[in-house]
Amino acid sequence: MPIRVAVPKETLEGECRVALDPVVAKRFAALGCEVRMEHDAGAGAHYVDDDYEDVSFVTDKAELLGNAEVILKVQPPDEDEINQIAEGSIVVGFMSPHRYPERVKLMRDRRITSFAMELIPRISRAQGMDALSSQAAVAGYKAAIMAADRSGRFFPMLTTAAGTIRPAKVLIIGAGVAGLQAIATAKRLGAVVEAYDVRSATREQVQSLGAKYIDTGVAAEGEGGYARELTEEEKRKQLEVLAKHITQSDAVITTAAIPGRPSPKIISKEMVDNMKVGSVIIDLAAEGGGNCEVTKPGEDYVYGCVRVYGPFNVPSMLPVHASDMYAKNLLNFLTPMIKEGELKLDWEDQVIKDSALTHDGEIRHEPTRALVEGDAS
Ligand code: NAD
Repeated sequence: MPIRVAVPKETLEGECRVALDPVVAKRFAALGCEVRMEHDAGAGAHYVDDDYEDVSFVTDKAELLGNAEVILKVQPPDEDEINQIAEGSIVVGFMSPHRYPERVKLMRDRRITSFAMELIPRISRAQGMDALSSQAAVAGYKAAIMAADRSGRFFPMLTTAAGTIRPAKVLIIGAGVAGLQAIATAKRLGAVVEAYDVRSATREQVQSLGAKYIDTGVAAEGEGGYARELTEEEKRKQLEVLAKHITQSDAVITTAAIPGRPSPKIISKEMVDNMKVGSVIIDLAAEGGGNCEVTKPGEDYVYGCVRVYGPFNVPSMLPVHASDMYAKNLLNFLTPMIKEGELKLDWEDQVIKDSALTHDGEIRHEPTRALVEGDAS
């Protein structure tokens, strides 16, 4: 019997991505899987059913989910979906366990094996599975486009018969995966780009993209290559230097995050008050509360004379390539588990161990287990 892989249509409002694009669907079929999808599952990403070869489409979602060994999702499965998935099956997707502890509990109780894409360890071997990175790259690109679109100015320098136009000044705060892609995109659009990150290791990466690195004298490398939270003194020092750059910018894109913590507030209300008329802030950290004090998460509005946008789910705004990249991440994650047309999970493998959220009636991710079961062991 081939491994039955199912892809339902995403149910979260506004989610346009799909977990499998036609190219990767074919690759799963070539691995010996029987791929089934819900009718119109790819529509949000502009893929019609006919684009998928070697895939059968069904309209009965309960039947689809109930007869699959592996279910591929973008967003966490909702409670209806979890109840339709057969006990013992595997579901893979972003799981946002802190946001949806009830769903984790339900998956545990239904003995579903769930793998959370956001828990895949960031080790070299797993780079091709790293959906946080692929989707952050999409968000960074789109942030630069959104900034250019909301600006009343050209980004590039232009020499025309009607005069010479100076390039826009763009500041990127946070030079992780999203920030670096925002830098590269703003550069391609011709802006003069400056960037800042608390991890000093980013200096060379920023410079290699042709942007200027702002040195605030604050370095805050934390565990696992991530940033740590700054002390009050470090925050003060950082803001003092950044304030000048923020007020001189035509567009500021913020991407700063600290895993498991609310987004650090880097741009104060006072700094926004001092920004140039018509400047733009794109706050990619909005889902964690935002990097700017005046960001209204999810809203696009004008504060004083500055356009401030804290978008949610930016990867879904570029659904074709976000889906293609995500599907590839899923393929890279699942391929090592498929041996001679059968699913074989090696529980000694770090990637499998770390990314497992629930398995065999247990919550395997300790912080989530403590949250859901109410104690820390
Ligand atoms: P992230 O989304 O956690 O944070 C975005 C950026 O914000 C980070 O660069 C962080 O240093 C920065 N930041 C945090 N607080 C800040 C502050 N107060 N001021 C300015 N900047 C601040 O980051 P990410 O894109 O997920 O990347 C985090 C780390 O993971 C990086 O070291 C990256 O190189 C690493 N990484 C490794 C792999 C891999 O090896 N497979 C893949 C992707 C990322």
